[in-house]
Amino acid sequence: MNRIILHLPSSIFDLLRKHLLPETPVAEEAAFIFVRGESETEEVGFQFVDWWPLGAHDLETNTAWYLEVTDEAKAKAIKRAHNLEASLVEFHSHLGKWPAQFSPSDWAGFREIVPHCLWRLKGRPYLAVVVAQSGFDGLVWAKSAFEPQRLDAIKTETQVFYSTGLSLRSWEEGDNERTV
Ligand SMILES: [Zn+2]
Repeated sequence: MNRIILHLPSSIFDLLRKHLLPETPVAEEAAFIFVRGESETEEVGFQFVDWWPLGAHDLETNTAWYLEVTDEAKAKAIKRAHNLEASLVEFHSHLGKWPAQFSPSDWAGFREIVPHCLWRLKGRPYLAVVVAQSGFDGLVWAKSAFEPQRLDAIKTETQVFYSTGLSLRSWEEGDNERTV
């Protein structure tokens, strides 16, 4: 299978990381990234177009263990992706020292937003990334809203970060259906 890579400029990656995980994080934070997908022989690459770090008023709830983006912010992000003819990537952080993996409430959110976005954005892939202190995990829905694939890596000009792959593994093992 082709590897799926998200390409971000180093400057944006640094700003994104600082936004999601500041030095003393008190709550989960979120951002949307707008990207364009390109398929090559051995890689599906998503190239950075723009981003939007979400502020307090874009979040319905954000605590140290839970985050919910307002419907208004989601609608705004989808509209912008539509105008840019881009794919949408949702990013959020998890605090604590556990390896990066989506939670049952994240999966519940995907069941709503992924089919909606694939429809609104004319079948362009939807991506989700969760960032923890020790790394990240990511999923890509390209074929269908019910068949996620692993986002293999995030690449900047100078660095490559590989995903933990834990979320897809637990989904394949059916954990997510058992826990939601
Ligand atoms: Zn989460």
